[in-house]
Amino acid sequence: MTNFTETDERLELRRQVARLAKGYGRDWFVERARAGEKTTELWLEIAKAGYLGVNIPEEYGGGGGGIGDVAAVCEELAAQGCPLLMMVVSPAICGTVIARYGTEAQKQKWLPGICDGTATMAFAITEPDAGTNSHNITTTARRDGDEWVLKGQKIYISGVDEAENVLVVARAEDTKTGKLKPCLFVVPTDSAGFEFTAIPMEIVSPEKQFQVFIDDVRLPADALVGDENGGLVQLFAGLNPERIMAASFSTGLARHALEKASAYAKERTVFKAPIGSHQAIAHPLAMAHIETELARLMTQKASALVDAGDDMAAGEAANMAKYAAAEAAVHAVDAAVQTHGGNGITQEYGMAGLLVAARAGRIAPVSREMILNFVAMHSLGLPKSY
Ligand SMILES: Cc1cc2nc3c(=O)[nH]c(=O)nc-3n(C[C@H](O)[C@H](O)[C@H](O)COP(=O)(O)OP(=O)(O)OC[C@H]3O[C@@H](n4cnc5c(N)ncnc54)[C@H](O)[C@@H]3O)c2cc1C
Repeated sequence: MTNFTETDERLELRRQVARLAKGYGRDWFVERARAGEKTTELWLEIAKAGYLGVNIPEEYGGGGGGIGDVAAVCEELAAQGCPLLMMVVSPAICGTVIARYGTEAQKQKWLPGICDGTATMAFAITEPDAGTNSHNITTTARRDGDEWVLKGQKIYISGVDEAENVLVVARAEDTKTGKLKPCLFVVPTDSAGFEFTAIPMEIVSPEKQFQVFIDDVRLPADALVGDENGGLVQLFAGLNPERIMAASFSTGLARHALEKASAYAKERTVFKAPIGSHQAIAHPLAMAHIETELARLMTQKASALVDAGDDMAAGEAANMAKYAAAEAAVHAVDAAVQTHGGNGITQEYGMAGLLVAARAGRIAPVSREMILNFVAMHSLGLPKSY
């Protein structure tokens, strides 16, 4: 029989993460963001408790759990107003790819630092000219003796300033066909020729996005993750976890906004009764709650499929979950702002500060349009439109 509730262990993990994150809270997170400071102590505390690398095999310092576990951690942090974008990137994308395809030596080298939070890994695929069309990336990797030489540019790369390494998608020449094939390289952020500058964004977050310049960065042979010819498959291994984590980030934000808005709607009285008794206030919140719960269910389905090793089915579910979660978050935050009236756009109540973060879920890591393209083609069998 299919079980529609999470295991007791997963529910307990959620409770523990929520308790830990509550000790920090939204006000602390926003203060840090506005002061241009980091939230490193939260990052290290969740790492120390074993939550950061909960999806990574135990022999490399992780918890030996699945993507559903790390997604639960991500969601509970966001639900307490402390969303950590680097969880999407470091343990979920980079950790999954390396755990699955890295050599034994690479796993020993990089996974423990991802788990204990001391060697965060960023992920860089997006380029200014290629954008969504990642087949058009032009960052190249050229062999020079035993070394690799990387050259190119990346954009909107999250958390480079907090990372020890970046997992960079570059294209190497296939010696047989001469064609350029995607490969993954671990690039230390202090490499000579590796520069980055912050992009001023409107998101209220201590985690920043960067433009990255890779100018003849020299890397040892073992910087290439896994097999030179397995680049695309290896890259795809990180994409379902990425979408599941992004979905959890969004459903967490949605829950945070709805909890605040419901509390406010019960308290605030303008005409005799609390504003929450007016359906114009209650219904948008109820609708956003339904959307959020549906998105959570699809996120859990996608996680279960990834953990069962069914990557194809997981692809559809992870895309749908990510789409649904971003929509739910946008609707939830908008309704929460409206519920608060003028207070909705004050810094004190912190609702409008969620707008851009929620809205970003429709753009990154994959846009809603590209998910609709995917579903139109793969689920409905419609012709490719691009
Ligand atoms: C907060 C944030 C964090 C990010 N972090 C990272 C990171 O850590 N690492 C990383 O590599 N990247 C990161 N990104 C980049 C992100 O993945 C891209 O912004 C995203 O994939 C969209 O690419 P683009 O911005 O170039 O938009 P474009 O590709 O220029 O697209 C612009 C618009 O056109 C639409 N469009 C394009 N092609 C089609 C089509 N065929 N059919 C229909 N619509 C289409 C898109 O959906 C979008 O709405 C981040 C972005 C943000 C906003």
